[in-house]
Amino acid sequence: AQSPGGLDTAHLDLPGWRHVYSGKVRDLYEPDLALLGGAHPLGDVVLVVASDRVSAFDHVLSPGIPDKGVILTQLSLWWFDRLADLVPHHVVSTEASAMPGDGLVPDVVAGRAMICRRLEMFPVECVARGYLTGSGLVEYRVDRTVCGVPLPEGLVDGSRLPEAIFTPATKAEVGEHDENVSFEVVAQSIGIEAATRLRDLTLAVYSRAEEIARERGVILADTKLEFGVDPVTGATVLGDEVLTPDSSRFWPADEWQPGRAQPSFDKQHVRDWLASGASGWDRASDAPPPELPAGVVERTRERYLEAYERITGESLF
Ligand code: ATP
Ligand code: MG
Repeated sequence: AQSPGGLDTAHLDLPGWRHVYSGKVRDLYEPDLALLGGAHPLGDVVLVVASDRVSAFDHVLSPGIPDKGVILTQLSLWWFDRLADLVPHHVVSTEASAMPGDGLVPDVVAGRAMICRRLEMFPVECVARGYLTGSGLVEYRVDRTVCGVPLPEGLVDGSRLPEAIFTPATKAEVGEHDENVSFEVVAQSIGIEAATRLRDLTLAVYSRAEEIARERGVILADTKLEFGVDPVTGATVLGDEVLTPDSSRFWPADEWQPGRAQPSFDKQHVRDWLASGASGWDRASDAPPPELPAGVVERTRERYLEAYERITGESLF
């Protein structure tokens, strides 16, 4: 399965694990209880595997970005540690198998996989924004609000907001776009108590992470979190990946200049190339996007690595 475009983790034969779901970027496996001979030693868990797939404009592209899944998983784990006193997270183990079928992380996905408590996920993308851009900017230009939150006049692309705001979105089906909604819509869907808890936790996580990133010369413009309920304890737990370039906008602080699109530590090269004449691709057409050139893949990999190294202060490979 190892190819120039990275590892295809959607169709692996992982002894002790059964594939249950593939999103655009991650693959979920559950314990093969027959093979394990009863319960999983760590309880009701799932194996969350980050692939090297990269998506842009709601399309999964080809080839993938080598090592992307490892970089994003290692960055998530780094953050989970630094947030653990604010909110419990779902990671139970990242230990690699000593022998196939022991229920630990299979060798072939070690480094890019986490054994996690199985959560009942809230159907909400919990977004915090400290800066205005993207879909927030589009809404702001219409009526000076984002997800029902009123904002001052005169803000431009990249402006810092007076304070961070909670701008939730509903989770879309594969291939669809997430839809920004107001706090009230979330409260109607999951109840006012849970909605308030998710808002407060999201803003607390953003505030902590924004501060840590800022000390390292990186602006955390916004971030998307996903929470779930642990069915055993009833606790609200932080799930999914956290504070990666796929779920967040990270901007080099020394290049921040409101009034234009900001350079960012993510798949910007991919988006820019697809949107440029060089790709020959018409976003509005039904045609699938073209193959990414090797140079775009390599620069994107370097950008993900740079994000990891700038934020953690450590090198990965
Ligand atoms: P998209 O391609 O839009 O991101 P997606 O979010 O469904 O779609 P991925 O992010 O690739 O797909 O896959 C991760 C999936 O795993 C998500 O559906 C997420 O809600 C789910 N998930 C994350 N952590 C847990 C957990 N601890 N228990 C159960 N499901 C989880
Ligand atoms: Mg997702």
